Amino acid sequence: MKTVLIMAAGGSGSRMKTDINKILLPLAGKTVICRSLEAFSAHVDEIVLAIRPEDRNAVQAEIDLSRITCPCRLVPGGATRQESVLNGLKSVSWDPDDIVLVHDAARCMVDQDTIVRVIDSCRRFGSGIPAVPAVSTFKLCNAEGIITGSVPRSSLFEIQTPQGFIGSELLRVSLKAMESGYEATDDSSVMEWAGMKVRTVAGSVGNIKLTTMEDFMSAERILTPASSACFRIGTGYDVHRIVENRKLVLCGVEIPWEFGLLGHSDADVALHALMDAMLGAAALGDIGRHFPDSDPQYKGISSLILLKKTAEILQRSGYALVNADITIIAQRPKLLPYIPVMRKSISDALSCDPDRISVKATTTEQLGFEGRMEGISAQAVCLICKT
Ligand code: MG
Repeated sequence: MKTVLIMAAGGSGSRMKTDINKILLPLAGKTVICRSLEAFSAHVDEIVLAIRPEDRNAVQAEIDLSRITCPCRLVPGGATRQESVLNGLKSVSWDPDDIVLVHDAARCMVDQDTIVRVIDSCRRFGSGIPAVPAVSTFKLCNAEGIITGSVPRSSLFEIQTPQGFIGSELLRVSLKAMESGYEATDDSSVMEWAGMKVRTVAGSVGNIKLTTMEDFMSAERILTPASSACFRIGTGYDVHRIVENRKLVLCGVEIPWEFGLLGHSDADVALHALMDAMLGAAALGDIGRHFPDSDPQYKGISSLILLKKTAEILQRSGYALVNADITIIAQRPKLLPYIPVMRKSISDALSCDPDRISVKATTTEQLGFEGRMEGISAQAVCLICKT
């Protein structure tokens, strides 16, 4: 008992406004035909591809490039899809319990579960057609565009491929249909025409047929790994001098201490590092460019206000913060008791979950300018994503 896949791959890209066969177009780094072949490789014993003669070399190159493990043959496509499938069916010697799956190569988004459901239904009942319940309302219209009737949605299904049958039965019925001049847009219609019972299985909404350029664009979005396309990372670093007669403000929180930090604004070294990390991740420069020291409106300003403005700059550029991690390097004062309120202060300003914001503090074992208490420094790293 073997399972053979016949793939109709002869369609031109007329609705895509391209002369190239759409199955040869790349989709997220791999051609449509290659994706379709690989989807079935683990489930079938042989693949038969019905193709246009002008696509032969290009399709063969894709077969060689693909990671399929089963044999794959090419047969000439026909004038219609039905004829192409028939050419494939005629090229196989069918045993009575052999299964055929017929698939449109343009449905390269087919999922493994759908393929398994179709094959399983074929083994048990002799047929399996993926079907998805209709979500839109359908009407019958006449040639003038006037509605002549409504179709109850509960009994309407969108039919997909792969469609599975007993191979010898589909060959017999398809030959009869060809002789009688019966033409259909899918194989289950041919079986119905011959009075055969056809059973549906659950299809998948994601198993779209790539027809228009919009279909390609949405498929590309689904298939592109989020990691490279959407996420960016940034780092920030800042230092301020410790002086007398200034407040110490870190992460928007005023910390009681005999000294403070010198600066044009409130000298919140931790928030300055964070803002630089956020702007850096978006390649939007640094805080000096957006909030210059020379501008009197920023004199003494709370850096929490600048942090909110930074988040708005990112938002306007199509980014949102995923998470941030800040390290404050200070010999004194002890910052540990203030960490929770610092995280809350930042997450409030950014309207995000405190879980996304980490604040840590460390000393330098009295080494360096932080250790000598000449200054406090801060480092920040953050991840942002495309919105
Ligand atoms: Mg600064």
